[in-house]
Amino acid sequence: MEEDALSKSDHRSVPERLHNLARNLWWTWNPQGQEIFRELSPLTWERSNHSAVEVLHDVSHIELAARLHDSDFLKKVQSVLVDFESYMESKDMWASRLATKFSGPVAYFSAEFGLHESLPIYSGGLGVLSGDHTKSASDLGIPFIGISLLYRNGYFQQHIGSDGWQQESYPRYDPLRLPLELVTEEAGGRLLNSVEIGHSAVYFQTWRLLVGRAVIYLLDTNLPENDQHFQSLTAHVYGGDVDTRIGQEIVLGVGGARLLRSLHIEPSVFHMNEGHSAFLTLELLREQIKQGKDFQEAQTVVNARCMFTTHTPVPAGHDRFSSELLEHTLGRFWSDTGLTHSQLMSFGRINTDDHQELFTMTVLALKMSRSANGVSQLHGEVSREMWKELYPNRNVDEVPIGSITNGIHTPSWATAKAHEFWNKRLGVDWTAKLMDAQYWSKLENGDLATDEELWALRTILRRDLVEFVRQRLRNQLLRSDADHTVSVDQALSPDALTICFARRFATYKRAPLIFRDLDRIIELVNHPNHPMQFVFAGKAHPRDTDGKRFMQRIVEISRHPQLAGRVVIIENYDMNVARHLVSGADVWLNTPRRPLEASGTSGQKIVIHGGLNLSIMDGWWREGYNGSNGWAIGEDSSETDLEIQDEKDSTNLYQALTEHVIPEFYHRNDHGIPVEWIKRIRNAMRFLVPIYNTDRMVAEYVTRYYIPR
Ligand SMILES: *Cc1c(COP(=O)(O)O)cnc(C)c1O
Repeated sequence: MEEDALSKSDHRSVPERLHNLARNLWWTWNPQGQEIFRELSPLTWERSNHSAVEVLHDVSHIELAARLHDSDFLKKVQSVLVDFESYMESKDMWASRLATKFSGPVAYFSAEFGLHESLPIYSGGLGVLSGDHTKSASDLGIPFIGISLLYRNGYFQQHIGSDGWQQESYPRYDPLRLPLELVTEEAGGRLLNSVEIGHSAVYFQTWRLLVGRAVIYLLDTNLPENDQHFQSLTAHVYGGDVDTRIGQEIVLGVGGARLLRSLHIEPSVFHMNEGHSAFLTLELLREQIKQGKDFQEAQTVVNARCMFTTHTPVPAGHDRFSSELLEHTLGRFWSDTGLTHSQLMSFGRINTDDHQELFTMTVLALKMSRSANGVSQLHGEVSREMWKELYPNRNVDEVPIGSITNGIHTPSWATAKAHEFWNKRLGVDWTAKLMDAQYWSKLENGDLATDEELWALRTILRRDLVEFVRQRLRNQLLRSDADHTVSVDQALSPDALTICFARRFATYKRAPLIFRDLDRIIELVNHPNHPMQFVFAGKAHPRDTDGKRFMQRIVEISRHPQLAGRVVIIENYDMNVARHLVSGADVWLNTPRRPLEASGTSGQKIVIHGGLNLSIMDGWWREGYNGSNGWAIGEDSSETDLEIQDEKDSTNLYQALTEHVIPEFYHRNDHGIPVEWIKRIRNAMRFLVPIYNTDRMVAEYVTRYYIPR
């Protein structure tokens, strides 16, 4: 068989093919692929936050050649290479039958992509969604190109000070140590493009990132050709002041469009994921006007090519720029097109006659797109309400903003042990059946997986989380000067009901809500027969002081003498920490202030691991909850008075915990199995796995939006 595999592939050597594999993020959703790189150098693998490129950098050609003489290892390597290469060459994909409907690739613009913990070009949920979208586009066989920026300093690394305050640091990444390749011209030199910002030409180079069959281009202004301050324009994810912000958005939108032109790529649709990239539409407009179209015709053409996904249900969350700033930074754009300043401003204004109104990127994106959507049904409703003034002749329910509910790339979020568990029971092709409700309905009874087996899985994954937390706490302790009362080896119990809360420390997510009645929680946590415990993680945006206060409050609580070791907080939430938490959690807690959680996705990641959601009726959970697959906190409604809302929600939360969650978890049969709990897990898997994934989500984008009707 191996002979076969070898002869089938071309004449490249195994080391060469392995280097190729390391430079395609396909391995990030293939546990065997990860295992190879880990095995090659466990220490480098750990130290580099699981980077295949770093591992191969550290393992010399001589060592690699020798290691491949180990026939067991060689066998594993070859099997992964064959899987990878046949994936890349496959002709039988979901979208194959649609191939003729795409006149060109989908160009997907996003300010961040969360693809893997070793590639820090994301800050949170929006980035993870973009990354998962890309991976499913690859799996489904959709022609797909992502556009973003290469952030040399990434997003910040978080440490917790002894005062509980968040500390931020920005390591500098070397693109040559990331799975990136510089895009060159046909003649061989580096491909250079530019945009105008104010009176300066700002040059950028481009890095190519391979994600299975999809490609992402990352634009990078760190070039000697640029003035010092433009060199660092793309240094940080959402870094700096408003000038940096608009500069980044010009590079992303205008630069991204110019890059595609210079590569002779003609997309069939431009998908703006959030408003950050909306200047793209101005560049497309400029092209049309230069070709002789009048302003109206030009707008019609641009409209027919663009679509827009909005993610933000809070007005303050939308980028807005002043008229002066726009004139100052985009001035050259005006002169080029013959448009007047107020014509240009009108694209970003709801009331085009109001000269005081700021320029809103979301308004620009909405005006320039053929279709737009929110990311859950409720968020669609909220968005229609929020932007109805743009459509004065329509009723609010006719505002042209639809919705597609977010999902996750399930194979990426399933841990190695979950993959193994399902491979054995469903067959290795379960990852290709994520949209098939019939297939997942097989989990209704114990034929495929018995209650005992599911409980064993839960118990193993909880143990893994406990050990991961202890290891992390030990490292945190080594670095901090705080005096800790509890030994890290006693932190958490592998048997206790484990509730996780991990997400950005944005205040609307209300991390401290569960501690509103602290005495109550102390009692519940320390109950002799049915204790519970909490793991927290999350970053606050560097400028979000209130968010940092929330985090500090959680740190204080984790140091409370009666809670220490039972309420813990882990530093530096990233995709790796997330993967441990979503697999180990018995319960995933979500307490946003409804309706501000546009969708949320973290709660979707737990389902394949047998976790259960306990959440406010907001975002995706409002659609996912069916009465028997997790728990709802409160009703599908909200109060206008925030204090009343908090009080109500916390009361409902305690009620759900004490009346349902805790009793069900600890109600065991003679064999120690919580039968009712497992039934709930089966219901969650059956009903949630086949819907809340990005295969379903991307397929919806294709049929409803990407392919013009
Ligand atoms: C999944 C994920 C998110 C998104 O979580 P929400 O439910 O939207 O809060 C954010 N950050 C990381 C690292 C994630 O893995």
